[in-house]
Amino acid sequence: MPEENNPFKNAQRQLDTAAQILKLEPAIHQALREPMRIYEVNFPVRMDNGEVKVFKGFRVQYNDARGPCKGGIRFHPDENLDTVKALAAWMTWKTACVNIPLGGGKGGVICNTKFLSISELERLSRAYIDQVARLIGPTRDVPAPDVYTTPQIMAWMLDEYEKIDQQHLPGVITGKPIALGGSEGRGDATAMGAVYTIREAAKALGLKLKDAKVAVQGFGNAGSFVASILSSKMGCKIVAVSDSKGGIFNPSGIDVKKVLAHKKTSNTVTTMEGMKVISNEELLELDVDVLCPSALENQITSRNAGRVKAKLVAELANGPTTPDADPVLFKNGIYLIPDFLCNAGGVTVSYFEQVQNTYNYYWEEKEVYEKLDKIMTKAFQDVHAISKEHGVNNRIGAYLVAVRRVAEAMRLRGWI
Ligand code: NAD
Repeated sequence: MPEENNPFKNAQRQLDTAAQILKLEPAIHQALREPMRIYEVNFPVRMDNGEVKVFKGFRVQYNDARGPCKGGIRFHPDENLDTVKALAAWMTWKTACVNIPLGGGKGGVICNTKFLSISELERLSRAYIDQVARLIGPTRDVPAPDVYTTPQIMAWMLDEYEKIDQQHLPGVITGKPIALGGSEGRGDATAMGAVYTIREAAKALGLKLKDAKVAVQGFGNAGSFVASILSSKMGCKIVAVSDSKGGIFNPSGIDVKKVLAHKKTSNTVTTMEGMKVISNEELLELDVDVLCPSALENQITSRNAGRVKAKLVAELANGPTTPDADPVLFKNGIYLIPDFLCNAGGVTVSYFEQVQNTYNYYWEEKEVYEKLDKIMTKAFQDVHAISKEHGVNNRIGAYLVAVRRVAEAMRLRGWI
């Protein structure tokens, strides 16, 4: 992997810049450069044909000074420890940036869900929990969905954990189906939270969202919901969307509902009729008002950053822009809402889900969105203000907000 594309090295570089501006004590800086705990697990799973395959998984608990570790589980063939470490670091900064009382963690299993049957997927999910059950818990470390993991997978994982622990503990995992203690509004929370920050950024930039042209890379949970909310609630014109097979472009606008229906039956957006097929690289360089990278890491790099034309980049994905690309976007006057601010709606509603599980009392969707809006708007304003004050890009601004809070908790605990 080229150095620029190592997400953990990138997370460390971003922290280093913030630490310098904050004049962080060397010991705190050093402690925050590495995860507190790393677990690697290898576990057998019986396949439908009777064979046994051994899978490798990870759980990283990055920092829990502000509360239990919190972070999703990713099922991906390219999963690796450096990616999980980076994602766990970003979870630490994310929970601190939106100021919810949680730390940061992340997990993953190297696997390709496209080649697993439903029953193999269930056995794999349960087997992973059998390995990490001793590490997680509502007051220790709370997983959630991420790329290629779903509410159904969370349900199997909850069931497995509760069998081991012999009690009902729905707060051990979030992103559950509503019938098992999930929260109203969790499904589209990441996208809804991102839309609140896009609304605030548009106000700050004087950009009208009505009829604004939007391109969305990645049409999964985060991307498909952001496309549909931006078009239905904000009046934006979605001109391009993509998935792992490529993208589609229509300058007069794409009917998001139709693409959603098409993706369900055809498994890709690229075969949708009447659209120009484009590559994921081309999508990033379209002349649009808002670009929403909502797929994976390392999409905007030093190679293509100079060709990004969007006025506003809203990072729903984690780590889509490398540290070498950030200054290029900043110099070109592109306003970027950094990942761990932009996509923090998911973890915020996960936090609400845990609060509701603890009280065993559930809120209506309207209440969830109102509370989410308040938290996202405040976090946006904190980051916008500190970035202006220091004359830095918003990513560094977000780090200044988050790292200061985590460092304060570590000092108060007497760790350093
Ligand atoms: P998902 O599995 O639901 O969707 C991922 C989408 O990306 C799919 O449409 C897939 O086809 C597409 N994709 C995969 N590889 C691609 C590539 N090389 N180029 C373009 N598209 C590609 O996952 P998700 O939950 O929507 O997560 C997407 C991103 O958002 C990840 O970075 C994730 O960490 C981040 N995120 C998700 C949540 C959440 O609540 N779902 C919360 C915070 C951050």
